Amino acid sequence: MSDCIFCKIVNKEIPAEIVYEDDQVMAFKDINPVTPVHILLIPKKHISDLTAITEEDKELIGQIHIAAVKVAEKMGVAEDGFRLVNNCKEHGGQVVFHLHFHLLGGKHLGTKPPA
Ligand code: AMP
Ligand code: ZN
Repeated sequence: MSDCIFCKIVNKEIPAEIVYEDDQVMAFKDINPVTPVHILLIPKKHISDLTAITEEDKELIGQIHIAAVKVAEKMGVAEDGFRLVNNCKEHGGQVVFHLHFHLLGGKHLGTKPPA
């Protein structure tokens, strides 16, 4: 997707503070962090949102979660824990329409998901 900002980050057309990369997944610092650690994990291939995944993406979705744990370890939040969030479409608060998971940590986030 040529006009997708996260595809441009994948293609290194615009800069990002990349903290992890493998063949299918990339993770970089959110430009507007809401917690001390705020990383975005994305598939390198363009998927607009979580409802657009297919059976073919099973391994990819697993790999994103494996990557999330690696990133959490690297960022020093694996021991205390963190939150992994997907905002899906309009009611979910999605703004960037390239599938991504927010890894939030570095402080106690409370016991309820935000609503
Ligand atoms: P969402 O509401 O889940 O679509 O969130 C999109 C997230 O992308 C927000 O937290 C933004 O701060 C973040 N974001 C937007 N543009 C960039 C960028 N160029 N680099 C890093 N993070 C970005
Ligand atoms: Zn994209």
